[in-house]
Amino acid sequence: MSTRQEFLPYALPLIEEDDIAGVVDSLRSGWIAKGPKTMEFEKQFAEYVGAKYAVALNSCTAALHLALVAAGLGEGDEVLTTPMTFASSANVVIHTGAKPVFVDIDPVTMNIDPKQIREKITSRTKAIIPVHMAGHPCDLDEILAIAKEHNLFVLEDAAHAVYTQYKGKTIGSIGNATAFSFYATKNLVTGEGGMVTTNDETLYHKIRVLSTHGMSRNAWNRYTETGSWYYEILSPGYKDNMSDIMAGLGLSQLAKLERMQGIRRELVEYYNTEFGNIPELEVPVELVYARHAWHLYIIKLNLDKLSIDRGKFIEELKEENIGTSVHFIPLHIHPYYRDTFGYKQGDFPVAEGVFERIISLPLYPKMSKQDATDVVEAVKRVVERFRK
Ligand SMILES: *Cc1c(COP(=O)(O)O)cnc(C)c1O
Repeated sequence: MSTRQEFLPYALPLIEEDDIAGVVDSLRSGWIAKGPKTMEFEKQFAEYVGAKYAVALNSCTAALHLALVAAGLGEGDEVLTTPMTFASSANVVIHTGAKPVFVDIDPVTMNIDPKQIREKITSRTKAIIPVHMAGHPCDLDEILAIAKEHNLFVLEDAAHAVYTQYKGKTIGSIGNATAFSFYATKNLVTGEGGMVTTNDETLYHKIRVLSTHGMSRNAWNRYTETGSWYYEILSPGYKDNMSDIMAGLGLSQLAKLERMQGIRRELVEYYNTEFGNIPELEVPVELVYARHAWHLYIIKLNLDKLSIDRGKFIEELKEENIGTSVHFIPLHIHPYYRDTFGYKQGDFPVAEGVFERIISLPLYPKMSKQDATDVVEAVKRVVERFRK
């Protein structure tokens, strides 16, 4: 018998009546492209993270890409990042013509290891993309000190880190630019969507112009009664802006972010209590400088105490009707990265070792207490069945 009858997905968005009303309101307003709601969402989001400027975009990938383009990254440049991330953190570097250079991770937080960054810096290194893995902040003081020393542009990948704080400061207000994701599985959703925040006025104007074809004026400046038909193309830009349909959802989600985060934290406390003293498992931590956003709850298996590997553990959980995922397959072992840059197994031993042990368990505000109890029971069953 499975732990539960119905399959429990590892992630689901929380969409309530206020979210539906927010989107319907955009539709009824007649303004469905980028307009007043997107601008309001930008304003509120910037205020929320404590940044001077925000540009709402159609993805975090676009946010990362435009920030690099605006910072002037290109051919011949190198950008440091972690292999323990989603493809877009490094793909966007390649799109600018620059080369991604990986730095191994800290085994506990799974974030880029500041102690190993210096060894990878060359005369070509221009930027660094730290990723706040699972919602736990990187040690930014260390990273910013190195960046200052070597004049590097710091672009934080905060796809997991809406709500994260580092030493009491909200992520989004710290590095040169920060990219957020509002993809369907993230802590705050707009379906697809993203945001870039910065305190740098020049960078902000460049990103804004790049996000709508390199045009000097967007539709809101042209099609309203005070607008003018005239515009100029300032650069061969992209089409990466958010729409008011998405922003309608973003505004209602932002309004209840605290509540959603409260539910995440309760679930994490419950999991930590239940899993914390099982020797076959290692539970995630929140270091003293961190306020964790708990985007993901990643357990690490102590494989020497189990008779099965991670893949089999996942299959067993699936048999119990519990969905899981793995964050992430290290980028350097994917065929493109391996073949293009000559990376191979063994290059980043910490990331590779951690990868063999990790499972992301279901964690989201839409989960019921019973769902969480089922996850705990299923994990315990599998551990008991396969402990050495
Ligand atoms: C989800 C994710 C992204 C990409 O976000 P999109 O909004 O889907 O473009 C980038 N980096 C990390 C670490 C992610 O998890």
